[in-house]
Amino acid sequence: MSTLNRCSRCLLPETHETIFFDEAGVCNVCRQHEFKQNKIDWDKKKIELDELVEIYRGKYDYDCLVPFSGGKDSTWTLYYLVEHYKLKPLVVRFDHGFLRPNLIENTTRVLRKLGVDFHTFTPNWKVVQKLMLQSFLEKGDFCWHCHTGIFSYPMWVAIRYNVPLIFWGEPSSEYTSYYSYEQPEEVDEKRFNRYVNLGINSEDMLVRLQGMVDERDLKPFSYPP
Ligand SMILES: [Zn+2]
Repeated sequence: MSTLNRCSRCLLPETHETIFFDEAGVCNVCRQHEFKQNKIDWDKKKIELDELVEIYRGKYDYDCLVPFSGGKDSTWTLYYLVEHYKLKPLVVRFDHGFLRPNLIENTTRVLRKLGVDFHTFTPNWKVVQKLMLQSFLEKGDFCWHCHTGIFSYPMWVAIRYNVPLIFWGEPSSEYTSYYSYEQPEEVDEKRFNRYVNLGINSEDMLVRLQGMVDERDLKPFSYPP
């Protein structure tokens, strides 16, 4: 009987996307984490962030947009931007239908404490059910609508409300190695197709669900808005 090879440090299995192990049996995601801790000049990064914030401060209705799940990463990001930089953010959440009650409670508490505008969107559950079944049968992951919605919806809102500065809670190198900390990670269509959509883009999904749902439900957001 053979067992899965796992990282000797974090236990990620060999089946994890983009993973490989070095001589010590440590995975590349763990090595990226070391790079984050030891090689990045965080004082210099802080100055870069200061400059970036000042370019956008006060120019638009909102200084920035923060995609927000209510988890620790996006909550910290939002807290830091509001408390440290005194920015006025538009907080955006895509509700995929599986938000736990304590997460929803935490979200309400955070938003009230910080005093920020909140924009949330919940897609049509009938459509979501069909997307989940299709995605599960094809990829073994029912959450295509979660992955794609979480990443694409805030971008759509940013365009719609003309908010050009977006702060994500974390880089993808926290989980995978499509991008490392050494290279700037551009949140573009290429990244979306590589890392987010399970290899099924919206046109592909539309073909799969043809006739099963109203096409307008799969394309509720025209581009440009
Ligand atoms: Zn590891």
